[in-house]
Amino acid sequence: MATQSLEETIARRYTQVLERIAAAAQRAGRRPEAVRLVVVTKGQPVEKALAAVAAGARDLGENYPEEGVQKMAAVHATGLRWHMIGHVQRRKARLVVTHYDWLHSLDRLPLAQRLERLAAEAGRVLPVLLEFNVGGEASKSGWPAWDEAQWEHLLPEVEAVVALPHLAVRGVMTVPPPVSEPERARPFFRRLRRLRDFLARRFPQAAWEELSMGMSADFEVAVEEGATFVRVGTAILGPRPAAPPHAARPHGAFQ
Ligand SMILES: *Cc1c(COP(=O)(O)O)cnc(C)c1O
Repeated sequence: MATQSLEETIARRYTQVLERIAAAAQRAGRRPEAVRLVVVTKGQPVEKALAAVAAGARDLGENYPEEGVQKMAAVHATGLRWHMIGHVQRRKARLVVTHYDWLHSLDRLPLAQRLERLAAEAGRVLPVLLEFNVGGEASKSGWPAWDEAQWEHLLPEVEAVVALPHLAVRGVMTVPPPVSEPERARPFFRRLRRLRDFLARRFPQAAWEELSMGMSADFEVAVEEGATFVRVGTAILGPRPAAPPHAARPHGAFQ
């Protein structure tokens, strides 16, 4: 059998993931176009990001603000959108405001307030998703949301974020605990959707249409449960090379 080039392999996997998304959407009575595929290029060499773009990818996701900015210098295409999906340290907030189209992982009020100041300075509005921890793992980022009886306590901080004029709250995001089978992630995706519905009733002034959930191992279940963004890395680009020693662990990685 002829060996496939990196470009061919990535193009084939990209198309397969799109087909699986479309099939999952159809099973749930949803339009496939309602789901956007974010190809997660974190930890991957530029060549793989270029191959994904050549295959048609227009939404790319990164965990480290600086790593993404380096890739942006090498990867161009019309209509490319860069998504920050990892934990953002305070001192990296400016990079996010300056370079990224979306922030999926807004996980605390002080970061929101800093982003607000920087976005106001830059004269832009940053679309953001609020990250929630719906699984209860201590290691995960996100506002605590595994106990539905405690959701009321989230409201003051969410209200404060929604009120910031240079952040546009567009929905919610989660990274559920690792599970042995995709089906086991379903309760977490359902909980995130219920939380979104709960917040949308309380704060109708924000647009809560986006549900960012589902990764390589479980994106079809996420689509069945209403995901509008799935974040898929290894299923398209293959395994990530080991992280450089200076890098902190990307959150959600190495599970
Ligand atoms: C790494 C990562 C992904 C992609 O994970 P894969 O298992 O490679 O698909 C998605 N979301 C977040 C937040 C990540 O950190």
